[in-house]
Amino acid sequence: MSRGLYIHVPFCARACPYCDFDFVVGRAPDLDGYLEGLSREADQRGEEAASGRRFATVYVGGGTPSSLGAAGLSALMRWIERRFPGAGGDEITVEVNPEHADMRLLGALAAAGVGRISMGIQTFEDAGLRELGRAHSGAEAAVGLQTARTQGLRVSSDLIVGWRGQTPTSLRDDVARAIDGGAEHVSVYALTIEERSAWPKLVRRGLRVLPDDDHQAELLVVAEEALTAAGFTHYEVASYALGGAQARHNMLYWTWQEYLGLGPSGSSARYARDGSVRRRTNARGLAAWAAGAPPEEVALGPVEAAIEGLWVGLRRLTGLEVEDFLARFPAVDRGWIERRSASQRARGNLEWAEQGRLLRVVAGRWLWHDSIGADLLG
Ligand code: SF4
Repeated sequence: MSRGLYIHVPFCARACPYCDFDFVVGRAPDLDGYLEGLSREADQRGEEAASGRRFATVYVGGGTPSSLGAAGLSALMRWIERRFPGAGGDEITVEVNPEHADMRLLGALAAAGVGRISMGIQTFEDAGLRELGRAHSGAEAAVGLQTARTQGLRVSSDLIVGWRGQTPTSLRDDVARAIDGGAEHVSVYALTIEERSAWPKLVRRGLRVLPDDDHQAELLVVAEEALTAAGFTHYEVASYALGGAQARHNMLYWTWQEYLGLGPSGSSARYARDGSVRRRTNARGLAAWAAGAPPEEVALGPVEAAIEGLWVGLRRLTGLEVEDFLARFPAVDRGWIERRSASQRARGNLEWAEQGRLLRVVAGRWLWHDSIGADLLG
């Protein structure tokens, strides 16, 4: 079984109004303090954090990792290699915001052994970027893609759908520009407004509107059509890849592998032989985490973990591999999967494939993944 390492970088230049991720804004990142905090946490996690070679993938996310700048990111990558020698043999990904994607920063990442970046483009339309409160322009995103290509970095591009004024035509244009720019992986997210974000206040002041579900659903389908027409495989609810360019780190989550998350709000999962899982989420907020505030810990028993695993595994639209599922969750058997999935199969949302080797969401029903999940979890 593979394991993944996630490092949360909790700094952003400014807050996007829809977002409630864990970040601090408005000051120069205290890199030394942050790296000291990571070292302290890695020491405390002991055996769990030992042996870098066991971490097949590394994902540096945020926040905005690229707000550390070229020197800061180089220092972070050196810290990872020192602390976890050999980690990321299969894939190392760093999130980069387009406004930071210049030759210096991307060159530093490539020199540090990073092979893949995830660029938060969201849209190339400046009106959309203003609506979303993003700090970059469409032109910067296009240049960033080009620069990544010159540095030999593989690129995943995030797009957001459902902002006011977005049309099927503008979304098709976003998809085309991401592909022309060389993205081999595209993640498409519906604009989701978090309660704790600034967006609800802006709605009350008449400055934003809440996204419309039908508009979003229509656009999600447009994105799927455009990407699959360009040869991308829709392999996970929100993810599309060319050829074998699936996100290997994220794949660990969807195939019930273990991961270690360091940094504020970093999440970790450890499985026992019987399939039970212990999840840990670090304290939210840089100050609380740095002060050693306790993490939140949740333990799921073998059957509870299997129920959750079924839902998570069905995010893979190519299908959940039944044999792998049963190897991870030995407390259940094929009959249990049959019974648990019966009502969704009867409704035409799930189906067996390849003589029962796979259980998967029926083509075209992926928009209902959440409600299918609610039924499976219930
Ligand atoms: S969307 Fe990204 S850049 Fe914007 S506030 Fe959230 S974490 Fe920061």
